[in-house]
Amino acid sequence: MKRIAVFTSGGDSPGMNACIRAVVRTAIYHKIEVLGIKHGYDGMIKGEFSKMDSSSVANIIHRGGTILKTARSKKFLTIEGRKSALANLQKHGINGVVVIGGDGSFRGALEFSEICDIPFVGCPGTIDNDLIGTDFAIGYDTAVNTVVEAVDKIRDTAESHDRLFFVEVMGRDAGLIALRSGISVGAEAIIMPETKTDIEDLITRLESGRKSKSSKIIIVAEGDEAGGAFVIAEQVKKRLPDYDTRVTILGHIQRGGNPSAMDRVNSSRMGFAAIEALLAGKRNVMVGIIDKKIAYTPFQNAVKHHQRLNPDLVRMIDILSL
Ligand code: ADP
Repeated sequence: MKRIAVFTSGGDSPGMNACIRAVVRTAIYHKIEVLGIKHGYDGMIKGEFSKMDSSSVANIIHRGGTILKTARSKKFLTIEGRKSALANLQKHGINGVVVIGGDGSFRGALEFSEICDIPFVGCPGTIDNDLIGTDFAIGYDTAVNTVVEAVDKIRDTAESHDRLFFVEVMGRDAGLIALRSGISVGAEAIIMPETKTDIEDLITRLESGRKSKSSKIIIVAEGDEAGGAFVIAEQVKKRLPDYDTRVTILGHIQRGGNPSAMDRVNSSRMGFAAIEALLAGKRNVMVGIIDKKIAYTPFQNAVKHHQRLNPDLVRMIDILSL
């Protein structure tokens, strides 16, 4: 292993920089040259490669976003695009690649392996945490903490005005951000794609709930099958017109911000382990942390299933909001 490339791909997440830093410095320690590729698979196709050294990753461990930029690449979905990407990797003498991204980025790497025999190792970077093979993906903990900070503020004003708030959080297919943040803020209900949404039941609960409660916060994952926060709030408003109802969509603030200590440590561990995996001859695997230990999961398993919601947490929601 003489020269490797590292890139970030798909949706960004806080902690990607800490991971890049760990990849670059661990590689240098093992006397491996590192090239950074800008703008994900698009940059691989366009040839946006540049050499990285220890100082190019200085002062980034605490910064959100990704210094390598990221992109969603339409061209990489085509065989012509993937052939151009391969030609560029070969031109630069790359013998190993670390891809930091989510489900789609690993699907792309798998598809690429049909024509490319350069080993790829992945680090899970997704605030949604929707991958099998790691307890916590890079950025998830920070995103949850961002939601908690925002909803605590909403709770103050909701309490002052005796309002019912529907707060929409990210999660197109997964309710993991909603679940963890909802429990943290003491939400009265958490609406997620993995659990059946019963509007009638929600209305009954709001009507029969503890009357002394002056504010109510309902967390809604954006991908819920009943619709987003606006749609659900509209349905509830029609039936409970006496409630002073408001909707807040938290949006992209959930992707930014300084990574939490947990994300910095996990990102560093996973970047470090990615280089060790390449040195050990592993390929097409995602690095993860399961029960505090580094684990490697083949890309095809990591992307196949979504992480299940922890049933112990789901069971608690209604009881703790009584
Ligand atoms: P994320 O990695 O955050 O899930 P995306 O789903 O956008 O983000 O995936 C990142 C990129 O991976 C896509 O823009 C595309 O270029 C590439 N990709 C995803 N699926 C495939 C596939 N089946 N074949 C080739 N490339 C893919």
